Amino acid sequence: MCDEILDKGKLICDKCIRIPRRVTGERCFKCSKHLDSPYAEYCPDCEKHKKSFLRGIALYEYDSVKDSINSFKNNGRPEYAVFYADGIDRYLSDIIKSFHADVLVPIPLHPTKFKKRGYNQSELLANELSKRFDIPVDTHLLERTKKTKEQKKLTGNERLKNTVGAFHMLPNGVKYNNIILVDDVYTTGATLDEASRTLISGGLKNVFFVTVAIGSGS
Ligand SMILES: [Zn+2]
Ligand SMILES: [Zn+2]
Repeated sequence: MCDEILDKGKLICDKCIRIPRRVTGERCFKCSKHLDSPYAEYCPDCEKHKKSFLRGIALYEYDSVKDSINSFKNNGRPEYAVFYADGIDRYLSDIIKSFHADVLVPIPLHPTKFKKRGYNQSELLANELSKRFDIPVDTHLLERTKKTKEQKKLTGNERLKNTVGAFHMLPNGVKYNNIILVDDVYTTGATLDEASRTLISGGLKNVFFVTVAIGSGS
């Protein structure tokens, strides 16, 4: 969180330990976003835009870990994947196990972005989750074929358009029943929805997701 040097064996300092806020309380049955109304089943966004995935889960409120996730992606902090995966394992393991997943599929980066960054943060996270949940990772099922603009710079409708046709499924002969897509952040869900839609069009059925963080707005 603060980027200070840590004592050996620690992943977060004592000052920062309370910064990441877990999503708590009533949650959307689809995307797991916090619900303001205890009587709603879905968040306003999932009510409005039908999602292709069955269900997903996220660990933290995005605004509480925004800087950390930005460093994870853009400032060369790939090791943060260990901390995030530990948290997911500690707090969300029952839900993740209930998905009965055969495979973890990280959201791929476009090849030019991958080259620039040197790693795919979602793949690092998937690899860490794989060790903890004993579910294999498949990085050859989905590829990113379209260079999308950064979602956070776009409005809701632009985001939906931006991701259409962003992915391509590579038929590798493996038939998965239950897939968990892995990504760092769920904001509008447009990226995960499009990735899921691509897999479903390719004949796969049950797509779930897990992310480190989720936005609270709609
Ligand atoms: Zn700190
Ligand atoms: Zn929702």
